[in-house]
Amino acid sequence: APDTAVGTAAHALELRDITKRYGAFTAVDGVSLRVDRGQFLTLLGPSGSGKTTILMAIAGFVAPSAGAVLLDGRDITGLPPERRDFGMVFQGYALFPHMTVAENVAFPLRVRGLSRAAREEKVRAALDLVQLSRFAGRRPAQLSGGQQQRVALARALVFDPDLLLLDEPLSALDKKLRAELQEELKALHRRIGRTFVNVTHDQEEALSLSDQVAILNHGKLVQVGPPEALYERPRTRFVADFLGKSNFLHGMVREVRPDHIALQAGGTRLVQAMREGHPAPGMPALLSLRPEKIALLGEEDGAENEVTGRIAAWAYLGAGYGLTVATADLGEIRVALPAWRAPIAPREGLPVRLGWSADAAVPVLEDADGG
Ligand code: ATP
Repeated sequence: APDTAVGTAAHALELRDITKRYGAFTAVDGVSLRVDRGQFLTLLGPSGSGKTTILMAIAGFVAPSAGAVLLDGRDITGLPPERRDFGMVFQGYALFPHMTVAENVAFPLRVRGLSRAAREEKVRAALDLVQLSRFAGRRPAQLSGGQQQRVALARALVFDPDLLLLDEPLSALDKKLRAELQEELKALHRRIGRTFVNVTHDQEEALSLSDQVAILNHGKLVQVGPPEALYERPRTRFVADFLGKSNFLHGMVREVRPDHIALQAGGTRLVQAMREGHPAPGMPALLSLRPEKIALLGEEDGAENEVTGRIAAWAYLGAGYGLTVATADLGEIRVALPAWRAPIAPREGLPVRLGWSADAAVPVLEDADGG
């Protein structure tokens, strides 16, 4: 089919309407996705949303109840895992404790019957790639958690797979180490140009590593796109909420103009730039407003949207302040205030005026299942 021919050129991996049922329970519900060659795709969602099941279906360990997995346009749905030849770094897919680092990394090459000389060269290259050459003779127990993860990565990459599958590879590490390894993983991906599919429930990791993020909830694909697009233009309340903090403002549409809508929230009038969809006058609308898009206005300042309130709570966060402002018409509003933009020192009960521009918020849909 012409569709398949196009797929062959552009998409390294394609999921077509994948469903996985366990008895009456649907773990994955009609998920379709395309990953271009060399892209980094992350499956992101809360616990139980079906991320691992999808990854296992790609790997071949889980047989979908319906749908197809295509590699370079070829249907591989029925192919056993060992014949897919993907690199994998899974939770609990541990290193062999009795083998040295070099032996661990060489293992996939021995299974594939490579000569000793060929193995040694590839192991050296893979260990160089993750900067662990000097630990080649150690055993896993003599390495830190981050180093062990890098060995697992080297072992997954040593046979130069087209596709690398990662299931929460960094989740067991502490925050600082995780951030370091995230940067390394990203640099590694750029360097080797292979296709990566990663699973995580960590939104920061998903945003910082990926070319594309696929957001899952209750087994369904909710939205997929580049990190900036998802963060700036979430389609639903769930996506906005899951991908960072947000305020949700309820209003009634009063006026619809070509480039903006006017909303009424109690006694407060809101002006909102048009995005997609045209809510009709008289209809309720829901806006997502990120805390960092809100400014604390000084006496002389004005903004397209303004609301007054009092600081109900605040916290110093190093790079700035996190404020919770109680307002009469919009409820509690969270504000992220960079330290250099804080005109006052926050204190509880302080009256403040908040401001944001018409394009700061995004209209979002209330999720069908309530969130
Ligand atoms: P986590 O982040 O907690 O790993 P996840 O998004 O990866 O979650 P999955 O492991 O894909 O979620 O599981 C999705 C749903 O399918 C869960 O509700 C889980 O309990 C269910 N499930 C997974 N495997 C099986 C199985 N073998 N039998 C029955 N139910 C299963």
